[in-house]
Amino acid sequence: MDKKKVVYAKSSVDSKIKKTFLIACVGLAVVFALVSIISIIVITLYSMSQIDNSDGTEAVRNIGILFSILTLVITGWLTFVVVKKSIKILHKAICKPMLELILSIRKANEGLEEIGIVMADDTEDEIALINSVYFKMTKQLKTHIDDIMKLSGLTEKFENSAHYDALTGVYNRRRFGELIQTHAVIAAKKNEPTFICMLDLDLFKKVNDTYGHAAGDEVLKVVAEKIKGTVRPYDLFGRYGGEEFVMFLSAPDSEIAISFAERIRLIVNESPVHFEGIDIPVSTSIGVAQMSPDRNYDEAIKAADEALYKAKANGRNRVELYNAEISAGEAPDKDSKDSKDSKKTESK
Ligand code: GH3
Ligand code: MG
Ligand code: MG
Repeated sequence: MDKKKVVYAKSSVDSKIKKTFLIACVGLAVVFALVSIISIIVITLYSMSQIDNSDGTEAVRNIGILFSILTLVITGWLTFVVVKKSIKILHKAICKPMLELILSIRKANEGLEEIGIVMADDTEDEIALINSVYFKMTKQLKTHIDDIMKLSGLTEKFENSAHYDALTGVYNRRRFGELIQTHAVIAAKKNEPTFICMLDLDLFKKVNDTYGHAAGDEVLKVVAEKIKGTVRPYDLFGRYGGEEFVMFLSAPDSEIAISFAERIRLIVNESPVHFEGIDIPVSTSIGVAQMSPDRNYDEAIKAADEALYKAKANGRNRVELYNAEISAGEAPDKDSKDSKDSKKTESK
């Protein structure tokens, strides 16, 4: 570690700048010295001539020499101070930041080498090193950005598969359950009653049996598309599983909720699904249940499922509203989804 620090301290930029500056300053000092020496000679000659001409004393000559030496010393000292100060300023303003930059680049270079990225060849020239590292980093960055873009595409794909049903492209059951929490809160703030509608395609097994599984898939896709195009942006729609769909809607009262469900039923039923030149008739039964402080999402699903069972029992292709009182009065085997499922199993 310490050894590396010594190596880093030997910066060619630092020494190059120092050398250049020193040469310039020494040159300046030499010029100063020459000027001083010339002035000494001139002053000495002048004072000597003055002595000769005016029969002057030895003292006057000595003063001239002393004055010249003093000028030389002051000039030398001033040059020294200026050189020292300038080197300090230069080092602080250019060399030090440069050294720090070089140090970090070398460190980054070493770190990248450890993970197999060679940024720069071994060079003593820091400017060349910075150039080389900078360009390679830019190149590398571009590669990483490309990778990140690819990854974000993958994340989007994962998110899509986690949120949407692969066949129909509508929300899957899990996502529907997650989103309903926020939708219910918004509706509660607006003081609007909310409803859960369970939709189940009628005699769908027969569709598969008659036209094939691919035809059944097409029916599911088309029906999901039709319903998705009908639900309002603030309502929710998803595939609950198999040939069952679920809808969350807000409406001022149950009558309006039922009329909305009725509209959905008619849209599904109004035209057959075309598949490979065949028209496949489709209908759906819908069970509607109101959500309330006493009936949370899971309970509302259960209630809507009960109403759906009633719609099936009453002849299919119809909408039924869950009525707690009627349900309580009905035979116990009709109260649960299990009983509905067992009835369906019987019918298969
Ligand atoms: P009911 O009117 O009582 O609902 O009768 P049904 O035939 O619709 O109900 P059942 O539960 O007997 O049959 C549902 C069928 O839906 C059975 C299953 O193979 C089919 N199904 C479930 N998921 C898919 C799917 O993704 N694609 C296709 N093609 N069929 C599916
Ligand atoms: Mg079903
Ligand atoms: Mg069905």
